[in-house]
Amino acid sequence: MNKNSTEEVNKITLYNTLGKEKQTFTPITPNKVGMYHCGPTVYDYPHIGNLRSYVFADTLRRVFEFSGYEVNQVINITDIGHLSSDADEGEDKMTKAILREEKPMTLISMREIADHYYSAFRDAQKDLNMISATTYPFASDHINEDIEMINTLLAKDVGYKTSRGIYFDTSKKSDYGKLGQAEGDESRIGEDSEKRNYKDFAIWKFDDKLGYETPFGRGFPGWHIECSAMSSKYLGDSFDIHTGGVDHIPVHHNNEIAQSESAHDGAPLANYWMHNAFLIFDGGKMAKSSGTFITIDSLKEKGIDPLAYRYWLLTARYSTAISFSYDALEDAGRAYGKLVDSVTSILRKVKTTAGAESESEISKNYRNNLLNFVNDDLDTPKAIALLWSLLKEIEIEDGEKINLIESFDKVLGLKILEKAEEQKKKEERLEEDLPEEVRELIEEREKARLEKDWGQADLLRIKINELGYKVEDTGADSKPRISRV
Ligand code: AMP
Ligand code: ZN
Repeated sequence: MNKNSTEEVNKITLYNTLGKEKQTFTPITPNKVGMYHCGPTVYDYPHIGNLRSYVFADTLRRVFEFSGYEVNQVINITDIGHLSSDADEGEDKMTKAILREEKPMTLISMREIADHYYSAFRDAQKDLNMISATTYPFASDHINEDIEMINTLLAKDVGYKTSRGIYFDTSKKSDYGKLGQAEGDESRIGEDSEKRNYKDFAIWKFDDKLGYETPFGRGFPGWHIECSAMSSKYLGDSFDIHTGGVDHIPVHHNNEIAQSESAHDGAPLANYWMHNAFLIFDGGKMAKSSGTFITIDSLKEKGIDPLAYRYWLLTARYSTAISFSYDALEDAGRAYGKLVDSVTSILRKVKTTAGAESESEISKNYRNNLLNFVNDDLDTPKAIALLWSLLKEIEIEDGEKINLIESFDKVLGLKILEKAEEQKKKEERLEEDLPEEVRELIEEREKARLEKDWGQADLLRIKINELGYKVEDTGADSKPRISRV
């Protein structure tokens, strides 16, 4: 357990889509948490909307680790079987990618495409300072697990065969759809006279040209069965938390629940179901299929630090829909830069970083508030507001502030301290390499400031500027900050 936590502050509450209320988290195994996040479909680069899902997952993981939990985190990689509509209709996304990239229509090409976009996804995760998940299972490496689960469902007559594939009989699961349904959902399910019920969905799709040979025919697993099979392999039949975007509630997650619980004699698939709201783009959901999606690289090209995007996301609750605009992101970039600047100034002044054991009462309050906020269904906006007030706090000594900022970084993943340390080193290097002429002008200006000769100080500032350097005063009793113009 975290040395600074107490019983009370360690209570974590989460909004559970299953039950539609905030609930106190109780782990299956004390001090451990298993979480499964529906992973990216690797047919293209991840857009920043997709990445919102994983920033949420990463923050959730950090919150549990902050409270001393050991986290087993699984993010699957969907590299086969995801059709363009969640309700098993339309083209196969990976096949579309093979055509787009003009590769031979083979399983090998599919894997090449998957590997390429998986590595792009991992790069984006690093850019956003996400901790690596424990496991990233690829769906195409788990066909045997799919077959085993489908066989169990067939044996129970919950699965049945048609000319198009193996289907799940939704009438056999009395609580089918318990996570909730989207309005107009039914219209998305295509007509198929061979199905027993119109809501039945494919757990295996036959394909006589491409696919995997199985006892029941060649083809591909359904997208939903992949998650059921992989989550049970890596986390067990029942685990703690399952997440995804809100779009997964009506179809994908209801179907995962139906399959897993039917195969596992009613054992609940996950105890807590959490869903992130959408990043809205031009009034609609940002989607790969729209072709106008924004990636981490497009942010970098515009000079926006990916961590400014993470900062922006955390200023809203994960469960609130937010509208994307470059203006909003640029504002966030400025705010994030200010945080780093302000921590750099503290680092320049700090003498020692006191151990947390000797922490003052007021510092302890900050630490407890941080824990309380993030443990309250990930209230990151409040945690960020707290960070700003900490930086302005005059009652806390600099060394203690740095310790606290380290804790904020741990749980929010914003790398503020690391960036400030880099900035400080850069400034120190610049100061060491200052041309003699500039150094003298700076000293003269310091003297003028001490003598309160503001006119002379300003003149010297202009001269320094003309030589390509900028001086910024950081406080009456500290050295000015020097940078290149
Ligand atoms: P996909 O790669 O399409 O399977 O989606 C990966 C994850 O991104 C899923 O959890 C989706 O729910 C989520 N997602 C897709 N679009 C958005 C968006 N615009 N905002 C937030 N999450 C999204
Ligand atoms: Zn899934």
